[in-house]
Amino acid sequence: MLNLQLFQKIISENNSFILTTHVNPDGDGLGSELAMKHFLQKMGKSISILNHSETPKQYDFLDKTNSELLCFDEKRDATKISSVDCIMILDTNQGNRLRSMEQFVKNSSATKVIVDHHLEPEMFADEYFIDDGFSSTGEIVFNLLDAIREEKTDVNFDKQIATELYIAIMTDTGSFRFPRTNIETHLIIAELLSYGVDPTEAFANVYERWSKGRMILLGKALDEMKFAFDNKLAYIVCTKKMFEETQTNVEETDSFTTFPMSIEGVLGAVLINELDNGVKISFRSKGNIPFNELAKEYNGGGHKNAAGTRVHNVQLNEIVKDVIAKAEKYLKV
Ligand code: 5GP
Ligand code: MN
Repeated sequence: MLNLQLFQKIISENNSFILTTHVNPDGDGLGSELAMKHFLQKMGKSISILNHSETPKQYDFLDKTNSELLCFDEKRDATKISSVDCIMILDTNQGNRLRSMEQFVKNSSATKVIVDHHLEPEMFADEYFIDDGFSSTGEIVFNLLDAIREEKTDVNFDKQIATELYIAIMTDTGSFRFPRTNIETHLIIAELLSYGVDPTEAFANVYERWSKGRMILLGKALDEMKFAFDNKLAYIVCTKKMFEETQTNVEETDSFTTFPMSIEGVLGAVLINELDNGVKISFRSKGNIPFNELAKEYNGGGHKNAAGTRVHNVQLNEIVKDVIAKAEKYLKV
């Protein structure tokens, strides 16, 4: 349950805010930050967004002037983080997912607030607005801001804020099809559309701007797809060599898991991306198969059906073998 009154109190008692989200931010993290920023600015608050990562190319359209989604710069920003009134962390509840900002955030005397929809928060903040029943952080942000606009009738959503929330919810629900998509989600989307959101344009901006290299990388990855355990598990690997050959990067494998998961009978999919010093792994599963538990075996996390981790100092072949072996017990259904 979200404590809407507590959220309103925090907003009214603080004037300056820093908003941040997780490393390699996605549409939910970025859309939620921007919607929160633009709404609170309408209330006269002073808001900065600072992220560990640069904005992935897929989401550059959200910040056309390249002036809103700032990448943390210790020299420029450390003092600001320590002196700001409130730090709001969106779409993650793990300090280590803030990477270079983690220690600055934890050491700041600011009121720390987490707004998120993941399980098992790390308890380093002052207040938590977490509910893993929501499809997305965007849906939580909608509810938090909706409560404020009911109270303060002079502040409202507009097309820009509505589009940012729409993108947050669209991306984290896999375009409104993942399990936590419900009546509430669609009612919120209906409300957002009433502000003039263009669903065709929103989808095209996020999903129809692939580079040719990305498509070729997908082709190569699918060509090498492997199966295990009676085809219940499908896994794909993107090697550094494949990234070099196609002039792509790890970010561009986002959504590649959709393809193995589309095969009839596949209950779980693993995508392993080779990094300079280890691997990034994505886990996807269906129904009651808790692949977040598999991710936890590698210090990762996420949701039951969508989780991830990074593992450093490992040989690609070794980790692939290890992950597949560890996956077997979760697939016994
Ligand atoms: P993806 O596979 O798309 O990167 O991530 C899927 C889900 O797993 C996301 O909800 C994300 O929060 C979670 N996740 C991905 N990487 C990590 C990680 O390194 N640590 C934790 N705790 N969660 C992760
Ligand atoms: Mn999310």
